Amino acid sequence: MLHKLIFQLGERFRNPSIRKWFAFLKQSENWSIKELEAYQLKQLKSLVSFAKAHSDYYKEKFAAIDPASFSSLADIAQLPILSKEDVLLHTEKIHTKHNFKKVFKATTSGSSGDPLVYEREESADSFNRASIFRGYSWHNVQAHERNGYFWGFDFSTSKQFKVKLLDALQNRFRVFDYKENAFKKFVKKLQRARYIHGYSSMIYQSAKLINDQKLPKPKHIKMVKGTSEKIYDSYKEEIKKAFGVPIISEYGAAETGIIAFECAEGNMHINMEGVIVEEIDNQIVVTNLQMKTFPIIRYQLGDYIELASKDIKCSCGKAHYILKEVTGRIGENVYGKKEIYPSLYFYYIFKNLANKHNIKLTYQIIQKEKGILIFNLEENLNTKDEQKLRQEIHSYFANDIAYSICPNVQKNAGKQKNKSFISYL
Ligand SMILES: [Zn+2]
Repeated sequence: MLHKLIFQLGERFRNPSIRKWFAFLKQSENWSIKELEAYQLKQLKSLVSFAKAHSDYYKEKFAAIDPASFSSLADIAQLPILSKEDVLLHTEKIHTKHNFKKVFKATTSGSSGDPLVYEREESADSFNRASIFRGYSWHNVQAHERNGYFWGFDFSTSKQFKVKLLDALQNRFRVFDYKENAFKKFVKKLQRARYIHGYSSMIYQSAKLINDQKLPKPKHIKMVKGTSEKIYDSYKEEIKKAFGVPIISEYGAAETGIIAFECAEGNMHINMEGVIVEEIDNQIVVTNLQMKTFPIIRYQLGDYIELASKDIKCSCGKAHYILKEVTGRIGENVYGKKEIYPSLYFYYIFKNLANKHNIKLTYQIIQKEKGILIFNLEENLNTKDEQKLRQEIHSYFANDIAYSICPNVQKNAGKQKNKSFISYL
């Protein structure tokens, strides 16, 4: 009761429009696809004309474009694509000159080099939080319920104190280091938790600890949500076994807002009231329909995705389109002796292995030299399974790449995002 009160007071102070947005989203979740798309078109037109009027960057880019003439969502194709480089290079120019009542400074760590720092208005920030809370509601979770949180560990003692205080206000607790004792204490606290969220690799580690050491299983978990990292097939069984519910995923980025949230039927519904998602050459292109301070329009986020067919209807009843899978990060090429390959190949290799042979592996591939790869696996492999893996690798890279397979490698989760491919080239 008290936690709920504290949570709501904090929320009302920071995000006064969140309740309005939540009510809106709970209503629009029953809309037909026609209604959803009509809303998207209306938002798109107003976003494009606002950006054109108030941002120096878009004034130039959209000079020849008349959003009032847009008659369907397909007209979005008239707009140029926005790359990550564009956003970093023109951050200042992209910001709109308009007097927003309240803005938050947002920072996202770029995967390489400079962070992106930009402003997000209260309305867009609240919309995004409300979108997350709507996702929670699909699993009967309310944000103020007791929750365990897995995130990075790089806290000094004084910072730990501050983090703990802020966590307490949100009825939240987390692990502070990666030693087994810290994890065990955390697992004990999970007995009283209703949901768990954070890096999926860390959720997996704690599930493994519970299962391997036969620790008492938390009995009241309603939702386990993985963010920011790939959820490997090998994680899923372990997590379900430890917590009694499957791990679900939330997909999004700070600058785009929530892109998709998994429903109780296991489908990732696109947050259509907040974003337009296009799939171009297997890549995701996102338009953030709510943020006006820093318009993100047709943005190449840098992930490979696969959208489900638009005919597929989810039995949960929501009409929102479905994101079938986030297949991998873009940008890191794999260098053979002669050819260059997309890192997406690793996804296929391990997906095939799981689908054809039911071999589920947790992997990290490292490249330090051209033509050579190291496959680090968390699991042990018998000779037969290793042979299967070698066959799959060969079918994608033939003899252009030499490689070694290292089983039983523990990744250092929590240190950084757990990437499936690391290239030093
Ligand atoms: Zn659904």
